[in-house]
Amino acid sequence: MDKGNESTAVIVPGEHVALIEEFESGKNTYVLDGDIRAATVGIPLYDLKRHVVKIKQKNSPMLAKIGDTVVGYVEMLFGSMMSIRILYLNEKKSLAGFSAIASTRIASGGSGWSRGDRRGRVIFRVGDIVRGRVFSLLNSTIHITIDEREYGVLYTLCFNCGGDTVRINNSIKCIECGSQEERKLTNDYGKEAFRLIHKTSIK
Ligand SMILES: [Zn+2]
Repeated sequence: MDKGNESTAVIVPGEHVALIEEFESGKNTYVLDGDIRAATVGIPLYDLKRHVVKIKQKNSPMLAKIGDTVVGYVEMLFGSMMSIRILYLNEKKSLAGFSAIASTRIASGGSGWSRGDRRGRVIFRVGDIVRGRVFSLLNSTIHITIDEREYGVLYTLCFNCGGDTVRINNSIKCIECGSQEERKLTNDYGKEAFRLIHKTSIK
């Protein structure tokens, strides 16, 4: 068993891979609260001899290039990062099923989003539709930024009741139950913007 033990289950970013008592954190993994977790979509590879676990990527995400625009949904939040399952790459439907990683910490300035000393970590929720720009492909992982004004949450349903939402300044408001929550939103936030991307992509 020199080459290690390969399981066949595909895991997603943020998913538990091993405990730090059992293995060392190898390529495409990170440690959070004593847990080794996946930093990319792939198959965990356990090297039982060296006690190292790494994630072998199932596909190469090199279809994306730096500067590309991606739209996807938040599939997982982990620490100050989130993984985004890509639905559209440059407004074309992407069937590859790749994920991208983005920071949930938004740089102040530039976007006009930060007010006074309100900066740092903002709220994102699983299922939010997010638009971002690819800025790095380090370690075969697609890293996107959502700092600029056209990037951020493009559309989401109410976190409370699942109702439709509208933008009010820097927050979203549910038209069903009235719940309001601050987000980093795109400048064209709303259902129509998302519909438009969908329409364009199926041409
Ligand atoms: Zn609601």
